Amino acid sequence: SDTGTGAGTARSRLTVLSGPSGVGKSSVLAELRKQQPDVYFSVSATTRKPRPGEVDGVHYHFVDREKFQQMVDAGEFLEHAEFAGNCYGTPRKPVEEALASGRPALLEIELQGARQVRVAMPDAQLVMLMPPSWEHLVDRLTGRGTEDPAVVERRLAIAREELAAEKEFDEVVVNADVKSAAADLLSLMVGPRISGV
Ligand code: 5GP
Repeated sequence: SDTGTGAGTARSRLTVLSGPSGVGKSSVLAELRKQQPDVYFSVSATTRKPRPGEVDGVHYHFVDREKFQQMVDAGEFLEHAEFAGNCYGTPRKPVEEALASGRPALLEIELQGARQVRVAMPDAQLVMLMPPSWEHLVDRLTGRGTEDPAVVERRLAIAREELAAEKEFDEVVVNADVKSAAADLLSLMVGPRISGV
């Protein structure tokens, strides 16, 4: 049950999910969407080119650098960061609207962005999605086949740094199984707080 002030309660419904490239964030979030349709999933803006199957306005708002910079200058982002040569940012307004209407909101963003949210919204809950092992991650990233080897190398180097930031997170969810990982994440978002873990 909620005991905080209105503003505090709304902010505490914000969850940030981070985790290294290849850990399976999209699969876990797709599963979470099935389990809990009421969650607001933030749609980021990015200057990255769409991958096959990605739809503008659904997976990302795909924008060019000029448009992205305009959004930065207009203060439209809750947070934004550069990752592996592309810019990513969370549009502020839809997140604030979701929280104001009482919906739990989820941002799936990388480490620098998570740190910015920590500062901007101290009550946000930071959750790291971890692979069962480092080998899992290497397999996933090299096997995806959608990125060239140089990009994979770069993402692996960033992944090593991201995993080292585990201590900055409030909670860790291990993605050994997509369904259980989604259920674990959901209980962190809407369920009672588990104490002693
Ligand atoms: P990808 O290119 O694989 O879709 O995403 C690369 C990384 O950018 C992932 O770690 C993803 O979580 C992160 N990301 C996606 N959207 C945002 C955003 O709006 N802000 C930040 N800081 N990172 C994001």
